[in-house]
Amino acid sequence: MNLADSEEMFQHLRARGAQRALTPQEADIILVNTCTVREHAEHRAVSFLGRLAKWKKEKPGRRIIFAGCAAQRLGDALKKEFPFLDMVAGAKSIDAFPSLLDKSGLFPPLQETLAPEQEGLTGYVTIMRGCDFRCSYCIVPYVRGPVKCLPLQHILQETAQKAAQGAKEIMLLGQTVNAYKDGQTSFADLLNRVSEVPGVERVRFMSPHPAYLTPDFLAAVRHNPKIAKHIHLPIQSGSTKVLKEMKRGYTREMLLEKLAALAECQMTVSTDIIVGFPTETEQDFERTLSLVDQAQFFAAYCFKYSPRQGTPAAQMQLLPEAVLEQRLDILLNKVRDLSARAYAAQIGSHQQVLMEEENKGRSSNNFWVKTSKNYKIGSIVDVEIARADGTLLFAKE
Ligand code: SF4
Repeated sequence: MNLADSEEMFQHLRARGAQRALTPQEADIILVNTCTVREHAEHRAVSFLGRLAKWKKEKPGRRIIFAGCAAQRLGDALKKEFPFLDMVAGAKSIDAFPSLLDKSGLFPPLQETLAPEQEGLTGYVTIMRGCDFRCSYCIVPYVRGPVKCLPLQHILQETAQKAAQGAKEIMLLGQTVNAYKDGQTSFADLLNRVSEVPGVERVRFMSPHPAYLTPDFLAAVRHNPKIAKHIHLPIQSGSTKVLKEMKRGYTREMLLEKLAALAECQMTVSTDIIVGFPTETEQDFERTLSLVDQAQFFAAYCFKYSPRQGTPAAQMQLLPEAVLEQRLDILLNKVRDLSARAYAAQIGSHQQVLMEEENKGRSSNNFWVKTSKNYKIGSIVDVEIARADGTLLFAKE
């Protein structure tokens, strides 16, 4: 989402005459778009800002914008600490970013005509911002606010523009992307509508919430071949007790049901898991391991719990670091084995590969596939998978 937000803010600067610079030395404006989901990310962003003091002094007229979630959390206090900072644009004000630029009087005015830039193969389209959940460890709802969905027509227009500029794949973005609703339009309807836009060959989305895996979503996936057969579904834990303390809004049993439905739709699933949440016992951790076994995730991003100041869970007593390390190690080993098995299981299958290079592309179910022949970038080729090596599949055509 931050990549998409950075791009959106860049386009507003571009509309005021800015161009992309390759190095800070070439640049006149630096926009630091920040994350605050972990304390470490925020510290890094703020210390980077501190180091920009020298860059700013080197040439008159240079500008610094500090944007995103850390900017939202720290607010205008940043300007006191870093008086050389020109503009703070918190995550909640991304829609107001153009007017913030204009009001500051520090940037040239909007230009009248602007030729569109060529898109990459994947066009990122934000469909909603914010989150209505209150997971006990997460800072996001405090800095991004409640869910706001963008209107269907706006999303379709943006998709059409990206497709006209060369995007073959559209990635729909939102904090709980599948909670999308605009009037009578559900997330499933939106997936179908976006896939019908001329030029769109594939639709992906990130990040869904297990609570919104509805029957109409599953039906859309089953019937619409343009919807990618992959989902990145953060589960966080396999223990109902821990999930309740995390306030995730689902149980282990609900997860297993949803995962079985996804498997029926031939979807591959990757996930995020937190180990060592303060109340996680050995038994809870075992339950996560057994769920991971049952779910057969093809990839999992595993994190040690780290408290986030300002969230309810930050008040809880932490587990010893050695316990976190040990559990993470056990989980990572399991995930590595499952991943190797998932790659091997693709051998003999037929895949449609969207070519991102002349001889390499991504299958609908999200595996990188190397082809023996060369193809046009952006084309979709049907291949049979001959072998797997590490995190790469090899096709015979
Ligand atoms: S669903 Fe939970 S973890 Fe995800 S952004 Fe919302 S509060 Fe954070």
